[in-house]
Amino acid sequence: MKICRFDGGRIGCVDGDEVADVTDCFAKLPSFSYPFPQHDLMVAELPNLLAAVRSAVPSAPRRRVSEVKLEVPVANPGKIIAAPVNYKKHLDEVREQADLHHGNEAHMRQIREIGLFLKANSSLIGPAEAVRIGMPDRRNDHEIELAVVIGKTAKNVSASDALNYVAGYSIAFDMTVRGPEDRSFRKSLDTYSVLGPWLVTADEIPDPSNLGFELKVNGETRQKANTRDLVLGVGELIEFASSFYTLHPGDLIFTGTPEGVAPVVAGDRMDATFDGIGAMSIEVLA
Ligand code: MN
Repeated sequence: MKICRFDGGRIGCVDGDEVADVTDCFAKLPSFSYPFPQHDLMVAELPNLLAAVRSAVPSAPRRRVSEVKLEVPVANPGKIIAAPVNYKKHLDEVREQADLHHGNEAHMRQIREIGLFLKANSSLIGPAEAVRIGMPDRRNDHEIELAVVIGKTAKNVSASDALNYVAGYSIAFDMTVRGPEDRSFRKSLDTYSVLGPWLVTADEIPDPSNLGFELKVNGETRQKANTRDLVLGVGELIEFASSFYTLHPGDLIFTGTPEGVAPVVAGDRMDATFDGIGAMSIEVLA
């Protein structure tokens, strides 16, 4: 199923070009008082609610997808984990272009050596919002990535068992200011993490290691690749991440971007398509 959030916190199931409003199925999410849990409540409860959602869809009120404002499908991720240089050809282009590595040796090493990084949760937006260029004097790049949404608590999970911990998948943009600073700083500006257009439940994508995807800017293809070329695949990333962090339901893993990263400026439009997930279009504004 394709689970979306729209129009001010409503929850929908995307069916073709329509959204079935299944908000009522989520009315009984557990409530908490301070201090709140570190996981996303909707994602944590999803396994218990999918049967009710499935039976509610045929009679649910419907809107056209094109007529709703799609919000970030995971409202409260505990953390946003991201993989640097996780496609070989992207590592090659980083090593070749001074604009990308800025002489920082740590930007040119392989993922197993440099590890993963975190993006600030405050950078996260959904499809109805726009990326707002925060540092217009610097180069600001697009990075299209497969996003993994963690479904249950995971610690020291093996790669072979890892897909059992996945709630689903979305398209992510890991927007980036180029420069010499640490990745987490340059990639955590407000609006620099985009997730959408919805969460596709893992049962619809049993094998995430063969998904073609493409990013166009103003109609021109900039990145076109396949997740089969990931250096660390989804299972290995979960193994790697969970050997350092406990992963909670709703935690996001941005799996890394392929070659073709390039600048965007205010006025650009980014159109992404991803096998098994769908399409997402995002405006870039000043
Ligand atoms: Mn990235």
